[in-house]
Amino acid sequence: MKFGTKAIHAGVEPDPTTGAIMTPIYQTSTYVQASPGDHKGYEYSRTQNPTRAALESSLAALENAKFGLCFSSGLGAIDAVIKMFRPGDEIISTNDLYGGTYRLFTKIFEQYGIKFTFVPMSEAASVEQHITDKTRLIWVETPTNPVMNIIDIEAVAKIAKKHNVLLGVDNTFSTPYLQTPMDLGADLVMHSVTKYLGGHSDVVMGALVTSSEELAKKLAFIQNSCGAVPGPQDCFLVLRGLKTLHIRMQRHCENGRKVAEYLKTNPAVDKLYWPGFETHVNHEVAARQMRDFGGMISFNLKTDTREAAFKILEKVRLFSLAESLGGVESLCGHPASMTHAAIPLNERQKTGVSDSLIRLSVGIEDVEDLIADLKQALS
Ligand SMILES: *Cc1c(COP(=O)(O)O)cnc(C)c1O
Repeated sequence: MKFGTKAIHAGVEPDPTTGAIMTPIYQTSTYVQASPGDHKGYEYSRTQNPTRAALESSLAALENAKFGLCFSSGLGAIDAVIKMFRPGDEIISTNDLYGGTYRLFTKIFEQYGIKFTFVPMSEAASVEQHITDKTRLIWVETPTNPVMNIIDIEAVAKIAKKHNVLLGVDNTFSTPYLQTPMDLGADLVMHSVTKYLGGHSDVVMGALVTSSEELAKKLAFIQNSCGAVPGPQDCFLVLRGLKTLHIRMQRHCENGRKVAEYLKTNPAVDKLYWPGFETHVNHEVAARQMRDFGGMISFNLKTDTREAAFKILEKVRLFSLAESLGGVESLCGHPASMTHAAIPLNERQKTGVSDSLIRLSVGIEDVEDLIADLKQALS
């Protein structure tokens, strides 16, 4: 089945009791048993829920994986991954990681004796030198936030396999429409479903997929033991969102390209970060592993000050100034004071997050209106 067909049909069967074409919201905490242990596969909604089960199989199908698990947030999903490991285990991660993931690793899991090494991965081969006999997992994000660094998933997967280390990929920015890490050798794929998969800025949710039965069992055990599961109403909303994922992504990509090309011609704009430009570092890797380049764009200003950026962010009318990304509406943000505020100035500047850097999540409105809005704000 091709992607759009899967987005609409995979994992979703007509409801067996009524034939309802849409998976009902099974708003129930428990299920009646005929005799102790004699049930229909569902016992308690932390463990299994039919609405969640439909979403979990749909997500697995879209990522070309066998098993899916949903969590109450993206960070809840990553939390479950790291709970597979023990004190003394080592994890290698991208250095320009999503801020919340960095906080989870360093402020929560380091206390329990898990060691994290944060390394630049633009040159995939350099990852190998950080592997020790205690390394258990390599954690990758690509494109990274907010300067869209591209990491070669297939090359990192080869290194991981050679050393018998797991590879997990946070695929939030790309979605399976653009990139399927399982096909490139990843063992696990994670999503902040909150973003493009939900797509309508109305749900917070996370997901993991894998094709390893052993990993799926371990993660389901953690999901049930720790309990960070989403409710059925939210699962329904995401099932609904997924049905237009391919169309939304197509438009995000078209609009992203046009906005990036427009910004290139604007004299106020200095550096522009969008993986579709041939001059973008690792553009050829992005062209190989992604089907298109997405709607996330960052840029800084020739006047590289916080004030200059704030002026623009206050002047935009269609772009809303807000955290998050991936919804149908266009958003803008200021990483230095929002998502990356906790990172010291010199560390920030090393990774390209200068004081004037602005990040756009280009939505699916008419692109002429989006460009007109940026034009008036930048003038
Ligand atoms: C938002 C985000 C997360 C965290 O997901 P939540 O749903 O907010 O918990 C993780 N990784 C990336 C890349 C994100 O953008």
